Amino acid sequence: MAPSRSYSHGDSRLAATSAAEPALPHPWTPSIKPNSCRADHGPPNSVDSTAPQPKHRGRILHERCIDCDTCRWMAPETFQRISEQSAVYKQPSGAEERMRALQALLSCPTASIHTEKPSAEIRQVQESFPLPIDEQSLPGVRFCGYHSEKSFGATSYLVIHPNGNILVDSPRYDKGLARRIRMLGGARYMFLTHKDDVGDHHLWHDEFGLERIIHSADVEAFTADAEMQLHGEGPWSLGVDFDLIHTPGHTKGSVCLLYKPLKVLFTGDHLAASEDMELTMFEQYSKDSGLQLGSIWKLMNSDFLWILPGHGRRVEFRDKEERGAALKAFISAKEIEHGHSARA
Ligand SMILES: [Zn+2]
Repeated sequence: MAPSRSYSHGDSRLAATSAAEPALPHPWTPSIKPNSCRADHGPPNSVDSTAPQPKHRGRILHERCIDCDTCRWMAPETFQRISEQSAVYKQPSGAEERMRALQALLSCPTASIHTEKPSAEIRQVQESFPLPIDEQSLPGVRFCGYHSEKSFGATSYLVIHPNGNILVDSPRYDKGLARRIRMLGGARYMFLTHKDDVGDHHLWHDEFGLERIIHSADVEAFTADAEMQLHGEGPWSLGVDFDLIHTPGHTKGSVCLLYKPLKVLFTGDHLAASEDMELTMFEQYSKDSGLQLGSIWKLMNSDFLWILPGHGRRVEFRDKEERGAALKAFISAKEIEHGHSARA
């Protein structure tokens, strides 16, 4: 699904969008990011350059960026983190980079990325969601895009399954996305990993009549009408293909979803890779990091090769030996840091 025009024809360079913002000096100037977006100004007409642009010159374009990392993992050649902010580091060159940058634009939870002029390809980019992740090893598992600020920019997924599709956490509600999910069979369930990533769950419930699944310890007023509330420590199952594993720590009611046939673990904010591709448990956001580490130890017996998280980067292990070694090394390092064992 290649865009019909390349960047060099570009009538829609990525740029800052807020009407309140002053015009930028270069025609191709960068954009933006949430709560902390700085522009990285390169030389004019440098769109074909593959050389890194000079480091940022400190122009804050935007106050909305929440530094959620979405644009950086979706289009790393275009967006980078600069001074704890996302920024357009380099304009996309070529059809694929441009496609990824525009997919990041649509996925940004704070609408912090813009093109200077309307993009001719935007409809095509909209139609690309939900995006396959890896058609060879993860057939039927898609990434929804359309991150919601209400979910702190968390990633959501669609699992296409003969017994009913499952949305994993809530994308931002969008009529076009809903239409495309409907074309893929709609959604029977919405599995909510934890209370932070519930976003527009009620709108998706209204759209598809889906059943929302969340642990009772994470039910709040906003999710009190969830149809399936998990109690206790589980584990639970959904049909024969899915196990639900209670992994408290980040929140009391954090639960991971294991899609057994494809060996995929949806982890919410329990476990992910950081931007430098090291395992992370987002300890600074954990309600109980000791408990969370114990919950990671609990995963040692689960058979997964992929981690698809709410925040952070995906992980694919080569085999169970690599997974086991990585988890053990991570847990051991944290045990030393914490000064006590996580292994029950
Ligand atoms: Zn969270």
